[in-house]
Amino acid sequence: MITGKTVVAGVVGRPVAHSLSPILHNAWLAAAGIDGVYVPFAPDAHGFERLANGLRGGAVRGVNVTVPFKEAALAVADRASEAARTAGAANVLVFEADGRILADNTDGYGLLRAFAVQAPRWDVGLGPVTVLGAGGAARGAVAALLLAGAPKVWVVNRTLAKAEALAAALGPKVVALPWGHAAGALSASTAVINATSAGLGGGEAPDAPLETTQPQAVVMDMVYKPLVTPFLRRAMELGRPVVDGLEMLVRQAEPSFEAFFGAPPPAEVDVRALALEHLA
Ligand code: NDP
Repeated sequence: MITGKTVVAGVVGRPVAHSLSPILHNAWLAAAGIDGVYVPFAPDAHGFERLANGLRGGAVRGVNVTVPFKEAALAVADRASEAARTAGAANVLVFEADGRILADNTDGYGLLRAFAVQAPRWDVGLGPVTVLGAGGAARGAVAALLLAGAPKVWVVNRTLAKAEALAAALGPKVVALPWGHAAGALSASTAVINATSAGLGGGEAPDAPLETTQPQAVVMDMVYKPLVTPFLRRAMELGRPVVDGLEMLVRQAEPSFEAFFGAPPPAEVDVRALALEHLA
């Protein structure tokens, strides 16, 4: 029921209709008995800044931000967390009553929580990690891995210049490699993360020599459609522990819920099952 005290939050993206965030947040709100609502916003391609500035003052408590507005979200904010600044993008904006906009990035939190849940024996500090891809998701992942204590991150990308730009932006622990040199990095990594869009919608897996990885190396795919991607299937056939993209997606929502509604999401809601139902 919407009342005179309902707290409003939402998600901004273009397109936004496919977003799972309203499903997750509204299920949590209902289970927690919080007087709040979570709605989608889809500004036109140039309308993000106007929308965000229009929300200054806190009539809407906050928004998640998704493709293609994550960089614009960081730019419009007055203050940003270290995670958002390092990732160069924000997926959470909170609108303070005094007019300021605070930015955060919880994608990295989601990534690391997904590892903690599905590969609990893996430790970020144990050794190098390989990230495949050099787009926005890869940058967020590398930033989170560095902030969590990864000693070294190899970034392997089809377009080497993009991997080099990412490495230059994030410092000496990040090393860019062309696709042809992936085997050496993979064989020395404790985890391999697919942050390319290859495999999306059941397409071809990224062409990485997973057979060169160590038996205990964790293989993660950010793509979650399908849930078991060709990349994860290959890793499973090799007997490697795996982490799926849906767990990351679900986990990144947790800190945003708390930022908007002032309480952690209730544990009893099986949001993973809800998300799976919706994806089906
Ligand atoms: P971008 O478009 O910014 O980057 C795409 C990356 O994929 C580039 O590095 C590109 O390489 C690479 N790429 C695309 N096709 C291929 C291919 N066939 N072989 C090798 N590399 C390829 O996308 P994002 O970084 O925003 O997103 C990447 C993926 O991560 C998407 O599938 C997205 O859905 C997923 N994602 C999942 C999240 C989750 O919570 N699970 C969160 C965020 C993203 P090049 O530079 O050479 O073009």
